[in-house]
Amino acid sequence: MFSYRHAFHAGNHADALKHLTLIATLRHLMAKSAPLLLADTHAGAGLYRLDSEAARTSGEAAQGVLALQAQANGQADGGAPAPEALRDYLDMVASFNAPGKSWRIYPGSPFIMQRLMAAQERAAVHDRLRLFELHPSDIHALQANVAQLQAGRQITIQTEDGFAALPALLPPPAAAGGSRRALALMDPSYEIKTDYARAAAAIQQCLQRFATGVYLVWHPIIARPEAHGLPRRLKTLANQARRGWLHATLNVGAAKGQAGLSASGVFVINPPHTLPAALRAALPAVLNALKRGAGQGWTVETGGLK
Ligand code: SAM
Repeated sequence: MFSYRHAFHAGNHADALKHLTLIATLRHLMAKSAPLLLADTHAGAGLYRLDSEAARTSGEAAQGVLALQAQANGQADGGAPAPEALRDYLDMVASFNAPGKSWRIYPGSPFIMQRLMAAQERAAVHDRLRLFELHPSDIHALQANVAQLQAGRQITIQTEDGFAALPALLPPPAAAGGSRRALALMDPSYEIKTDYARAAAAIQQCLQRFATGVYLVWHPIIARPEAHGLPRRLKTLANQARRGWLHATLNVGAAKGQAGLSASGVFVINPPHTLPAALRAALPAVLNALKRGAGQGWTVETGGLK
């Protein structure tokens, strides 16, 4: 069974890249009043304690979101303001925590999506959120966390394989007026080597079923052929489907004697036209707060965008 637990990694540099990109993308999509189908194929537990044993043992949030918060607080005391997408991400995390106190809660992707869906200006739109998770402990935690929201039928949680479940959701139902809109986050743990091929195959099916959907795929950058191959494969799929794409990467560099993931990427098919500029403005500030050593850097590459 799976041994990956996101509680050790919540709020790390990879979450910062992924969640900042997710929020910037959804802000743009939600500026339109038509409803959205949101899907999170690998949902995790939904909420994480930053003061838990897991978070303190790994120290990943301390070198991630908490370092970003410290940089932003320093800037508020006289420096340049944080770029908008970074500010928006930090405001999102802050909204789950008591003002003026150390942050204790980190929202995972399901709660970030739910918070944006539940915003006052969005409340009458009837977006739907579909969550998939397989880990017995995380599904239990996710169900308990979501139950607190009393969101009713707006949020559905299924103990199902997210790779197989996503294509079956598409195309999304047509809203009054006929529009069909969907955004899916695919954020596997890549514990199993075949996850790379399964992610690409699922996206290929999704593009065949609903080419105009917005698909965000997170991937680790590690010395493994499958990991290098995934963004290349996604680029080919997007180009073949004649869809625009964006690929952003963040490498915080390897500190001496420190193991663990130092780089990751997020591949977005059909990104909003505002996303490249938003990420190019935010990632230098993110890297400035999180850089650790050799190899550090960020990239934003795009293709097929009008
Ligand atoms: N998306 C979450 C976030 O950003 O807050 C984090 C997800 S974590 C990186 C990946 C999750 O996928 C783990 O909780 C793991 O148990 C779950 N998982 C692994 N394989 C899965 C599969 N085939 N279908 C659904 N969930 C799976």
